[in-house]
Amino acid sequence: MKRTFVLLLSFFLLGCTEIAPPCAPYTLDAAPPRYFVILDYGHGGFDVGATGVDTGVKESDLNLVIGECTARALEDRGCFVLRTRTGPDALGDTKRDDMARRGAILCTDGADCTVSIHMNKFADRSVKGPMCYYQAGADDGEALATCVIAALCAALGRDDRPANPGNNYVTRIPSVPSVLVECGFLSNPEDEQALQDPKFQQLLADAVADGVIAYLDAQSGKPQ
Ligand SMILES: [Zn+2]
Repeated sequence: MKRTFVLLLSFFLLGCTEIAPPCAPYTLDAAPPRYFVILDYGHGGFDVGATGVDTGVKESDLNLVIGECTARALEDRGCFVLRTRTGPDALGDTKRDDMARRGAILCTDGADCTVSIHMNKFADRSVKGPMCYYQAGADDGEALATCVIAALCAALGRDDRPANPGNNYVTRIPSVPSVLVECGFLSNPEDEQALQDPKFQQLLADAVADGVIAYLDAQSGKPQ
């Protein structure tokens, strides 16, 4: 036993020709995240959602790209962000399974709010622009959606548009304020092009992040 120990010690000492750098020190005074936001990128995998009329672009892909821009915009503003998905795949093999797993993440304890990112489509191809849905009857969800659509309309230089009441799983399931953002219409030629432009995607992401922060700051009494 003693010999084994000496052998192991020798092996360890001979093997350590370099001193390992110390771990990054953990400091108790590190600033906690400003807010905890859950971001949901709609659809994915077998469920592509809507498709662009002119280009065939998949809503699921745009949700992921614009969602990631939004996640980073919120992180840049000091938030902790939990994503429902981080790649192109769905969360399950069936729509039911996917939604159940999505719902479980959206109901994670401690979140301040949830935001689902989607793209719209409509028979009338002239209809364009973003829309924000909240769960009908949820006052806090309406206030959040109102802040987000106001920030989006301001960023895009368009007339104010009210938030819309709705009844969607992703706004109904969470117990915290929740909004479903339809970033634009894949049926409108201008929107379809713009939604694939990285600069426009960043503009949308920053506006959504600003709207979310404006709502949460107002709720928490923090300075704007
Ligand atoms: Zn969708």
